[in-house]
Amino acid sequence: MKTIILFLFVLMLASCNTSQNKNKAPDRQKWAIVVHGGAGNMKPENFKPGDLDRYKQELKAALDIGKKILADGGTSLDAVERVIRYLEDCPLFNAGKGAVFTHDVRNELDAAIMDGRDLNAGAIAGVGDIKNPITVARMVMEQTPHVMMIGKGASLFAKEHGAVMVDSSYFYTEKRWKSLQKVLEKSGKMGTVGCVALDEHGNLAAATSTGGMTNKMYGRVGDVPIIGAGTYANNNSCALSATGHGEFFIRYTVTHDISALMQYKGMSLQDAAQKVINGKLEKVDGRGGVIGVDKDGNVALVMNTTGMFRAFAKSDGEEGVAVFK
Ligand code: ASP
Repeated sequence: MKTIILFLFVLMLASCNTSQNKNKAPDRQKWAIVVHGGAGNMKPENFKPGDLDRYKQELKAALDIGKKILADGGTSLDAVERVIRYLEDCPLFNAGKGAVFTHDVRNELDAAIMDGRDLNAGAIAGVGDIKNPITVARMVMEQTPHVMMIGKGASLFAKEHGAVMVDSSYFYTEKRWKSLQKVLEKSGKMGTVGCVALDEHGNLAAATSTGGMTNKMYGRVGDVPIIGAGTYANNNSCALSATGHGEFFIRYTVTHDISALMQYKGMSLQDAAQKVINGKLEKVDGRGGVIGVDKDGNVALVMNTTGMFRAFAKSDGEEGVAVFK
């Protein structure tokens, strides 16, 4: 009898413990943010003295803009748009002001933004006269029934909706002109910008902006404005922004694939991102990386290149800026 009572007592304690564990709140961040400034097979010796620090300073400055918005209770959508606007205005990165040149020495910019609450999204592609493509992508999302607008139509829409328009000479930077000459002699260069964020309301958002790939053909559109390729956000899984050789990211629907692995296979963000970037893509020599944040504020910064300009911050105070693997 005594043994039975003891057994029941132990059983009771055990069930008590399990229900306590079940009720224990998961380690969820109030907010989290990740930024990238492009990935590539770069080495420290490729940079002039002081250049690496400048990249890191600008990434940190962009991150701080997003951090402030999120810490003040703002939305992830505002945070990702403002961070990308800052990076678009910075000539160091291949987006906005620092966009790379096409083969015929033009600038054709792509950008996309996505709201994880309702999977609403907006994108523009192939534009050469909009100062901040990410803001117009957001206008497409919020002020039209469409997802993507291209070329002349996108520019007309931007003008009519009060976006800041610029002459094509605005995008001329000596650095990008020289890198076109180098690519023509064969040595690649990347530098797209992206940002993903979770806000305290539990909403995820993603934004990416780029000049595309140096020496691309006229009219070429990369992965960045294609929802599920270079940009994706879903409150049920994660928010992602990619950078790398766009054609591979389109063919392997990289960001949607990562989200689907989380939703249908129950994988963690880190494992899903590794599987796609270091598994599927690496096998076919699809080079690049991805940044992500999930609904609990876990972040992932995964690449199959030697470097990716990147920075992250979480509400618990953890943060970092890095370039190499
Ligand atoms: N993914 C961009 C594109 O293919 C380029 C990059 O990220 O560097 O347009």
